[in-house]
Amino acid sequence: MSLPHTEKTNLLGLDHEALVAFCAQLGEKRFRATQLFRWVHQRGVADFDAMSDLAKSLRGKLKERALVEALPVLAEQVSRDGTIKWLFDVGGGNAVEAVFIPEKDRATLCVSSQAGCAIGCRFCSTGHQGFSRNLTSAEILGQLWYAEHELRRRFGRDERIISNVVMMGMGEPLQNFSALVPALRTMLDDHGYGLSRRRVTVSTSGIVPFMDKLAQQCPVALAVSLHAPLDPLRDQLVPLNRKYPLEELIAACHRYLEHAPRDFITFEYCMLAGVNDQPEHARALIELLSGHGQGTAWCKLNLIPFNPFPQSGLHCSNADDVQAFARLLTDAGLVTTVRKTRGDDIDAACGQLAGEVQDRTRAVIRMQKSRIAPASAPAAAEPLPQSLELKA
Ligand code: SF4
Repeated sequence: MSLPHTEKTNLLGLDHEALVAFCAQLGEKRFRATQLFRWVHQRGVADFDAMSDLAKSLRGKLKERALVEALPVLAEQVSRDGTIKWLFDVGGGNAVEAVFIPEKDRATLCVSSQAGCAIGCRFCSTGHQGFSRNLTSAEILGQLWYAEHELRRRFGRDERIISNVVMMGMGEPLQNFSALVPALRTMLDDHGYGLSRRRVTVSTSGIVPFMDKLAQQCPVALAVSLHAPLDPLRDQLVPLNRKYPLEELIAACHRYLEHAPRDFITFEYCMLAGVNDQPEHARALIELLSGHGQGTAWCKLNLIPFNPFPQSGLHCSNADDVQAFARLLTDAGLVTTVRKTRGDDIDAACGQLAGEVQDRTRAVIRMQKSRIAPASAPAAAEPLPQSLELKA
């Protein structure tokens, strides 16, 4: 008798070692698990019958006990600049988003880790919706699995398309640590996606104990949502600061650096008009980041233009203020970039995704009204930008 669908193990949630253990339960050797892992992740195959070099008996056991299934796609949006946003159904009226961002020298997928978010940052539309649930490892990794293989099919490519992953979509990844780590391991695995640790970034609002755990268990590149240089202001913008104030956070960053694949931490700083974008804020930021006797070379600043949404009561800093702020930081020796906005026409700003999540019907209608195709009828494939050169 076949197991009901829901009792089957979704192989997208198993990292290589977990798949070895799963196959051992089926009486199969390690190399069979590796073959299976490669079929799923490197070739994007979900149908066990199509895995031609697996014995028929193993394929039969897999059909009984396992499945390979990403989240259903509710809708897809394609921007004029090549950015693609997918809205995935996570059940219960909730949805999460993943965003593909092609650039000259890389192609990045921004991945969600939770439906909603409990951190409640003032400037983030996800934070305003509250927390719904953690995604499973299969649901996190499934965003990459779907995007990578869908893009290969669409663009007729055999080789890897997505070169970088940033965990900067909906949710605080470190609040879903046990599901996050297996997904990261599959991204890094040579038999999986083979991404280097430098090309996988976890972005956190600063959950200090889990920053230390990540350093021990899976030290990928780290980005920290900073947004304010002083505790009273950060308490308001990122409420988690009351639990892990700046001094503790910066000390945790320095500890992380001992394990990090890059010799710097990236700090994200959302520019909010009249709130955190004045010269005194820049000076306080310089003092915060150049303290600890480490100089300024250990970090990079990424200034992000705020993407306004109605309930926030906040406004985007004007371009002159952003430039003046960046100049003060640069003059003090801090490597500073101003993030280019991508996918403006599809509202794809990282960290401010899925304002529509709690009403997915309205979300789909809105997406269909803009340049959107429902999942069942994908948008006419736009070619990857000619200038896209993917790094190995
Ligand atoms: S910025 Fe990140 S941590 Fe803060 S509320 Fe939004 S999703 Fe959560």
